[in-house]
Amino acid sequence: MRLLIMGPPGAGKGTQAVALAKRLGGAHISTGDIFRANVEEQTELGQAAQRFMDAGEYVPDEITNAMVKDRLARDDARDAFILDGYPRTVDQVDTLRKILNTLGTQLDGVISLVVDPEELIQRLLKRAETSGRADDTEDVIRHRQEVYTQETAPLLAVYGERGLLIEVDGMGEADEVGKRIVDALPV
Ligand code: ADP
Repeated sequence: MRLLIMGPPGAGKGTQAVALAKRLGGAHISTGDIFRANVEEQTELGQAAQRFMDAGEYVPDEITNAMVKDRLARDDARDAFILDGYPRTVDQVDTLRKILNTLGTQLDGVISLVVDPEELIQRLLKRAETSGRADDTEDVIRHRQEVYTQETAPLLAVYGERGLLIEVDGMGEADEVGKRIVDALPV
């Protein structure tokens, strides 16, 4: 199964994506994790991405698209994957479709985690206490929500029109949310 997991920052995408990838036996591909690992190792990619990430801005599409293209071509993503944090822009949606076309496959579903906006801020502020992430300060957290609303939320309608959208209530314990996702998956 080839899935996307979408939702605003703090919706719990990462937690759910890891559990789901284990369950489905596919690759968990988190663009945020890949960028953070590259920043840590000070690779060329990390150096190009860091200032955008620290400011809560999106990394430019040409950088992100090239990275995802390489990652999806790897063996462990051939039969199943959960993409987490990509696509985030209309351009990335088009690119993803082209990449998957080239690989001779397509998406099976797009999970959208729905969480109250104030709950999102509270979760991220809590995470900020332990994450050590440079983008987990209150101002940057609020900015990331705005960028999400402007750039990424419109993608939900695009996937809705393609008949792929699976909306899941993301409020409550992670385990409960996980069960809701599994129940909602296409067969
Ligand atoms: P969150 O879900 O909390 O916003 P992520 O870990 O998914 O965080 O992403 C962290 C940062 O990495 C983003 O704010 C952005 O700078 C960069 N990033 C991740 N995915 C993308 C993407 N698809 N396009 C552009 N930038 C991205």
